[in-house]
Amino acid sequence: MHNVTLIKGDGIGPSIMDAAVAVINASGAKIHWHEADAGMSAYERTGTPLPDATMESIAQTRVAFKGPLTTMVGEGFRSINVELRKQYDLYANVRPAKSWKGVKTRYDDVDIVIVRENTEGLYVGLEHYLTPAKDIAESLAVVTKAGSERIVEYAFKYAIDNNRQKVTVCHKANILKYTQGLFLRAAREIAAKYPDIEFDEKIVDAACMHMVMKPEQFDVVVTTNMFGDILSDLTAGLVGGLGLIPGANIGVDAALFEAVHGSAPDIAGKNIANPTAVMMGGVMMLNHLGEHEAATRMQNAIEKVVNGGVYVTPDLNPDSKYGTKEMGQAIVDAM
Ligand code: NAD
Repeated sequence: MHNVTLIKGDGIGPSIMDAAVAVINASGAKIHWHEADAGMSAYERTGTPLPDATMESIAQTRVAFKGPLTTMVGEGFRSINVELRKQYDLYANVRPAKSWKGVKTRYDDVDIVIVRENTEGLYVGLEHYLTPAKDIAESLAVVTKAGSERIVEYAFKYAIDNNRQKVTVCHKANILKYTQGLFLRAAREIAAKYPDIEFDEKIVDAACMHMVMKPEQFDVVVTTNMFGDILSDLTAGLVGGLGLIPGANIGVDAALFEAVHGSAPDIAGKNIANPTAVMMGGVMMLNHLGEHEAATRMQNAIEKVVNGGVYVTPDLNPDSKYGTKEMGQAIVDAM
């Protein structure tokens, strides 16, 4: 029995998480769910977007399965997602984007994993105004040698563990010579320890163009925090959109699994949100827990339903009569 903290989240969160939990429960893995609150819904109920009880639950279980959280704008709160990543030092954000047979896009054979540094860079939250008139603002990026080395090391180990051939570092060291230069030097040093994995370097703007024109050049991509955030939405677009891409946030002794997308307030409550991304996050979680058979069973069932194109949400098939609930049930039935 595995203990997992379950945060259903805001907006479309509860509906896609209910569907995903039903599928995980049907996969054969034994999970004891500890439900906890976070986000806008937690704020409305408890007055804080990240209650102590939620932090204590993750401190106990060390594994969380999380729905999207609405970021509270302009109320002095930083992003809860960023807070959770910092609190548990979830330094590696892994976002795989793979083509689906049944989802028509410009390319049939995209298979790119973005490994994004998750705790440093421009997202450390060191931002302020320099003038009383608030007409000049400054944001600081923090990059450390240790932080850079551990994320690149993670990317190479991931490549080996998952039979990948190549790691590409995406950077902007030509302009940001200190922060990005440090990251690139660390990447080169670590790459030298892994002669069996091909190593490539790309400046991030050129990488965007190459990814759109020739995505087959990329296998595992390792990059700093903000570039990883942007590149992983780009790769999501290559394979059919945000409704399909999971994200794992991995730390030394804790991990959090989720979808890459947000709480999608525009479609909340309509039973049309695609649950695939969080479900694939669930597959990553089962693998992390060592439940490989259950993970494979779940992934096969998700692929069967998505590629079948019938019991799917309208983002995958505009003619579909079915929604989140029906898609979830079809995946349970497929198992
Ligand atoms: P979003 O990802 O919520 O939505 C972007 C677009 O994609 C919308 O049109 C939405 O309808 C669509 N979409 C997203 N998920 C979908 C799904 N599963 N199925 C079908 N369509 C889907 O991004 P946003 O609108 O910029 O952000 C909304 C809120 O979510 C903000 O408060 C943002 O800060 C937050 N957010 C949270 C996370 C997270 O918790 N990990 C990630 C990103 C954004």
